[in-house]
Amino acid sequence: MTATHSTRMLILGSGPAGLSAAIYGARAGMAPIVVQGIQPGGQLTTTTDVENYPGFREVIQGPWLMEEMQAQAEHVGAQMMWDTIVEVDLSQRPFRLVGDGGHVYLGDTLVIATGAQAKWLGLESEQKLRGQGVSACATCDGFFFRGKKVAVIGGGNTAVEEALYLTNHSHDVTLIHRRDSLRAEKILQERLFKHHGIKVLWNTEIDQFVAGEGNQGLVALDLKDTVTGETSRLDVDGGFVAIGHHPATELFEGHLELDADHYIKVTPGTTHTSVPGVFACGDVMDKLYRQAITAAGTGCMAALDAERYLAEADFEAEEAVAAE
Ligand SMILES: Cc1cc2nc3c(=O)[nH]c(=O)nc-3n(C[C@H](O)[C@H](O)[C@H](O)COP(=O)(O)OP(=O)(O)OC[C@H]3O[C@@H](n4cnc5c(N)ncnc54)[C@H](O)[C@@H]3O)c2cc1C
Repeated sequence: MTATHSTRMLILGSGPAGLSAAIYGARAGMAPIVVQGIQPGGQLTTTTDVENYPGFREVIQGPWLMEEMQAQAEHVGAQMMWDTIVEVDLSQRPFRLVGDGGHVYLGDTLVIATGAQAKWLGLESEQKLRGQGVSACATCDGFFFRGKKVAVIGGGNTAVEEALYLTNHSHDVTLIHRRDSLRAEKILQERLFKHHGIKVLWNTEIDQFVAGEGNQGLVALDLKDTVTGETSRLDVDGGFVAIGHHPATELFEGHLELDADHYIKVTPGTTHTSVPGVFACGDVMDKLYRQAITAAGTGCMAALDAERYLAEADFEAEEAVAAE
């Protein structure tokens, strides 16, 4: 049996952005419904130590933080749905979305918080060592490699920015790129080349991430020269894969304006998308910061923007009735 669920505020995604929107939306009386998707709690459920989310002096665990956020959202009145949206219609009001089991969700407003996933090289050794020396986020994990040797893999803006960021913690940063030139903006390249703490390995790709004895995690990278085929080993403590992110926006192609990298476009300084009544927050609209706290911050903004949008719409409807 399929059911239809209606709400003033429908939220897609249960990471920090979606759950923060849910907390603010519930407290504003909008009785939000949160469709959680295939990763309830979002990306932070895939990590262990989180040291940069304000409010906790000790290191906390990502899954625990997300359980607390969900419990807080439910405590103030948000309703969680274990479902994944597979179809959207933003041309009618209320907005109509369909879950993969056929359930229908109707929302007077829609908050999209579907996140973005890091792209990986796809090596088995990379998968095994994720969280044990292999990371896709220097801002998140760079601090754990203070005074250690690290490598960044990639050649675009993200890779260069990650390499520069890591020099705050390490004096031995190697940027590894499979071509002989970078795609990053010129200004970033200049900063990179001038930095004494960073060396670049050109025409080099990763053969495998090498684990140490026992629980030691990553200890080296096996490399291959893409021109000569020569192999070598680079000792490192941390390996940061920085080859881009993939925002979860396939559902919205053709329904909302997306930018060239497929992130949802919002009016700067707000969470308004190209469709009135639809708001976007968190990593799905932010390719610059991509942190739990910024996702939570824009989640709050989305709920406030949605609440104002509904208040204005209600006011206009009342005025229209009064004028008749
Ligand atoms: C390994 C790792 C470690 C990290 N460490 C830190 C850290 O220490 N500090 C920090 O600040 N940040 C960290 N980050 C980054 C942080 O996790 C993200 O910036 C943050 O989770 C983004 O939140 P979000 O709510 O925008 O999206 P996400 O957390 O990605 O959540 C997206 C949500 O959307 C749902 N969804 C997707 N598609 C659909 C659909 N079709 N229907 C319904 N729901 C859908 C998913 O199920 C998920 O619940 C880390 C990230 C990773 C991967």
